[in-house]
Amino acid sequence: MEERAPLILVADDDEVSGRLAHDLLDGAGFSVHLLGKSIDIIPAIKQAKPDMVVMDITLSGMDGLKVIRMIKSDLEISAVRIVVVSENDFEYEKQRAFKYGVEAFIKKPFNVDTFASQISQILSGNKELLTAFGGGVEEEEMPGAPHADDTLSETQARITVWGCRGFAPEMPNLVSAYGKQTSCVAVETRERLVIFDGGSGIIPLGRKLLAESGHRDIWILLTHFHLGHVMGLPYFPCLANPAYTIRIAGAGPGEDKFAEAVRGIFYASPWWHAPRPRARILIYEMSGDVCELAPGIRVRTMQAHHPSMTLCYRLEAAGKKIVYAPDSGLFGDAAAMQAYDEKLGEFCRRADAVIHDACFTDEDWQSRREEGHSSPAAAMEFAALQAEAKNLVLFHYDGAYSDETVDKMTERAARLAKLNSWETQCHTAREGFSLTLE
Ligand SMILES: [Zn+2]
Repeated sequence: MEERAPLILVADDDEVSGRLAHDLLDGAGFSVHLLGKSIDIIPAIKQAKPDMVVMDITLSGMDGLKVIRMIKSDLEISAVRIVVVSENDFEYEKQRAFKYGVEAFIKKPFNVDTFASQISQILSGNKELLTAFGGGVEEEEMPGAPHADDTLSETQARITVWGCRGFAPEMPNLVSAYGKQTSCVAVETRERLVIFDGGSGIIPLGRKLLAESGHRDIWILLTHFHLGHVMGLPYFPCLANPAYTIRIAGAGPGEDKFAEAVRGIFYASPWWHAPRPRARILIYEMSGDVCELAPGIRVRTMQAHHPSMTLCYRLEAAGKKIVYAPDSGLFGDAAAMQAYDEKLGEFCRRADAVIHDACFTDEDWQSRREEGHSSPAAAMEFAALQAEAKNLVLFHYDGAYSDETVDKMTERAARLAKLNSWETQCHTAREGFSLTLE
């Protein structure tokens, strides 16, 4: 069967440059539609179903960036690739355009020798940052061939901690046995890898994955957008390799859509020097209570008691239940309002492992309640009495604490468990900590 030439819709209110783009692309063998009135762009995309739109964002009477946003949030046409051409190349506009899902930004006037080949390269490259859809994974997007890890049986799951610190505005220059990387935990089953959070710990994890060339289809579940949970994501080494599929799931902060917030991480100014990703990235907004990530791997979510929209996850895989709640402010005994502790207890009921916020000393927990964290002792009591979990992993210690402080507060939790003869095993997260659930 003969392959059809890709169809490109050129939308430009400036007749001369629109015609030039048309002729250059037409000359290179593309099918090209030229649209002189950008006001009609959305109906034109719906009708022509182009593979790509090349558009000037200085549209007459419309904010071009707003139009891009409309295209990208309309499920019928959101998959179309967009290349922006503009006389301006203000960094701020570019960042917004990328955040909304644009693939490339070409400054006018174009280089007539390279314009068509630039477009052709973008068309043949991996599609970056595909638009979100909620409620799980559609059939054709089901993860590709699994990678079998022979060190695990079908009923085992391995938890590995790559970063267990909370982000502190001032990070004291102290060597730590717990490590200084921020939130990132890998859960491996025989066939799949799921990563919780994209804190700085995801960078050494990615290096290991690249070196081992194992899993190529990876889920990253984000709890929220506080810095310590996303700061490593744009630097995740697997993003540089087009052979990888990275599936990022979570919930949007406040009014923002999740996909937009994720794109913001890749293209917003705090991360301006991060390399542009080359892996295939798919973004999923968690919209239901339960999502199937791959055959036999399910995830449930619950909103955490923590400032900003924050999720706790319960992963069900290889017959195990693993809860990840890195930022979760328990109310504890003294509080009148127990609804959250009870609800979370239900969510964690008899889990094989609960990885829970143990950010503060008991004193700091009392005085910094509004920050939505817990202490190791509170997490221990919760895991044993409310959740009846098999294992508790104390996690997310304040980044500014010395090892001496973390030692004391975690030892206190372990003592409490021993004293009460609680059955829940208490573990202390540190970088490299690993727990295999049998
Ligand atoms: Zn947080």
